[in-house]
Amino acid sequence: MQNGNFVLQTLAYNHQVRILFVENTELLNDMCHPPSMHKLLKTAWGQTITSACLIIGTLKYNQRLSLKIKFSNARHKIFADVDSMGNVRGYLSDELVHITPDQLNHIHLKQIVGDKGSIHITKDLGMNSLFTGITDMPYRNIIDDLSHYYQQSEQTSTDFYSYIQFNENEEIVLSRGIMVQLLPGCPPHRIQQIKKELRTHQYILADKSNGLMEIPGKIFKDIEIVGSIPIQHFCGCSKEVLYPILHSLEKKDLKYAVMKAEPIELVCHICGSKYDFEPHEIAGLL
Ligand SMILES: [Zn+2]
Repeated sequence: MQNGNFVLQTLAYNHQVRILFVENTELLNDMCHPPSMHKLLKTAWGQTITSACLIIGTLKYNQRLSLKIKFSNARHKIFADVDSMGNVRGYLSDELVHITPDQLNHIHLKQIVGDKGSIHITKDLGMNSLFTGITDMPYRNIIDDLSHYYQQSEQTSTDFYSYIQFNENEEIVLSRGIMVQLLPGCPPHRIQQIKKELRTHQYILADKSNGLMEIPGKIFKDIEIVGSIPIQHFCGCSKEVLYPILHSLEKKDLKYAVMKAEPIELVCHICGSKYDFEPHEIAGLL
């Protein structure tokens, strides 16, 4: 399904700066559920997934990370889960998906984030060791708030960039991102210098004819590619996982389906995969 979506790991400025690049256009299109999601939500969700994809490049063997963006309305949330193998999944809370297009047409992301937004990151370091950090969202725009998270929670200068291009049907035609992290010993002013370089060279990132592998060398003079990680959509759902939902349906609805000899279709709310439960499987629950 995916066509060359990956994270590129590089070291720049005399190996004092770690810069990660990601291309995830097909991944986002594959994951987007429902595909008719409003452009504003697609942007917020896409930026969250792109940032999580970039963080994959910083994970060590067998580590996992969960990123949760919680907006002022506590029911409005975006989730992304990633691991060091490049597996990615992410979704929006139902309440966020159900905001009507009419409402969304008249607001900006800043208003959805509101003044009580927060970023929650849980890192599973393996061996039952979890690290959780929470920060507020003073910038109200996800990307800069994630930079703020790293500054506050991990005391590292980190910047995120997400570039998402839509066509006239509001489908994502290009999605790329960059994460810049200063390594110990790097002069702090470097982050501003890199910010300027990236602003000047944004057209390179936005040009689809530039392959991701070529982009680092086109933007920065002193940069070395040190690794790459393929990324793929992996939900982890299965028919077994959805059985409890079938169980929670009204007994009379289950009986009705058995009587009519009709299957019941359940949809995974994370990835949209459909699972059919046949009458004999439903009868087993009665
Ligand atoms: Zn699923």
